[in-house]
Amino acid sequence: MNIHEYQAKQVLKSYGAPVAEGVAIMSADEAEKAAKSLPGPLYVVKSQIHAGGRGKGKFKELGPDAKGGVRLAKSIEDAAADAKEMLGHTLVTKQTGPEGKQVGRLYIEDGADIARELYLSILVDRTVGRVAFVVSTEGGMDIETVAEETPDKIVTVAIDPDKGVTADDVKALNAALKLEDEAAKDGEALFPILYKAFTEKDMSLLEINPLIVMENGRLRVLDAKVSFDNNALFRHPDIVELRDTTEEDAKEIEASKYDLAYVALDGNIGCMVNGAGLAMATMDIIKLYGAEPANFLDVGGGASKEKVTAAFKIITADPNVKGILVNIFGGIMRCDVIAEGVVAAVKEVGLKVPLVVRLEGTNVELGKKIINESGLNVIAADDLDDAAKKIVKAVSEG
Ligand code: ADP
Ligand code: MG
Repeated sequence: MNIHEYQAKQVLKSYGAPVAEGVAIMSADEAEKAAKSLPGPLYVVKSQIHAGGRGKGKFKELGPDAKGGVRLAKSIEDAAADAKEMLGHTLVTKQTGPEGKQVGRLYIEDGADIARELYLSILVDRTVGRVAFVVSTEGGMDIETVAEETPDKIVTVAIDPDKGVTADDVKALNAALKLEDEAAKDGEALFPILYKAFTEKDMSLLEINPLIVMENGRLRVLDAKVSFDNNALFRHPDIVELRDTTEEDAKEIEASKYDLAYVALDGNIGCMVNGAGLAMATMDIIKLYGAEPANFLDVGGGASKEKVTAAFKIITADPNVKGILVNIFGGIMRCDVIAEGVVAAVKEVGLKVPLVVRLEGTNVELGKKIINESGLNVIAADDLDDAAKKIVKAVSEG
């Protein structure tokens, strides 16, 4: 789950991280009051969407000469005018895709005097099996470009989970970011705070780009992007409250209601599979035969008929889906339950695209019988390879 920048800053502030004063608003009428409550004389009006690159982004409705999604304003009137222009419009950034995202919230923040823009993120580094800081002096701009063109400017410091952030780690981070004097002292305080927030709140990513050194030599968190591990959200009702479903894929929201592991993808073959490993293998084999999966969907081990029905409906509701592959290995999951769910869903919503079903395992004969006797136009498959070939062929001919 992702949250907005202003929410991420609230979370970090509660741990003691230095962030600017700011007010989040959802309507333009609130802008003037919000700006008035800040010290000034510089105000920053920031679009709150779950995507980065807002500063360089463009509003679809406003034409190429309009300012971007993060605006500096030199007066309360200017800040209010910017807020009015931005709210409700569609911001297109490198990360939103060409369709962009509608800006429904703004964050009006105190403007900072920036001396240097740095990059800092914390993530789970799977190569070393540890939480790691990734830092660079080249913050503020596209970190992917830095990684590609000057990878030596990115430094990784992995943290020992037994020790937490040690004095040596602080030293390494301060050196990598070229922090001295006051800024180095701020770093010494900030790094453990960020690590604590990351681990306690079960974050999967914490990205601060930029972390700034201000003209007065102090550090400040100027942007914050946080993702949480969905599997640990049950431990954090305070974080769940921050969820903004208007930012999420409608199909993924529906799937989360039924506790389905679903991720929307760009291809045209809808997949219903049980078990994450089999789901990955199914996606791979579809690609091997030259097509692209429309989704990742793991119905899990002990799915009910209702859950399978919901899953099938989510797949068929996606207009990009030109064919469906059901690939079930019934170990704990019974093939007859899957078959009943598929038949029930098709009866409710109809079937307008080819459907290939491969069932194997517990109650497989009963499962096949239910499907065969349902009158559905199903293409049966013997194994995974055969199933993938058949669905790719059906879609390419359709
Ligand atoms: P994004 O990464 O989505 O473009 P940022 O929050 O990083 O959004 O803002 C983009 C740029 O705007 C920053 O790199 C910084 O130069 C400037 N900026 C953002 N917030 C402030 C602020 N409070 N004061 C001064 N400049 C800011
Ligand atoms: Mg940024």
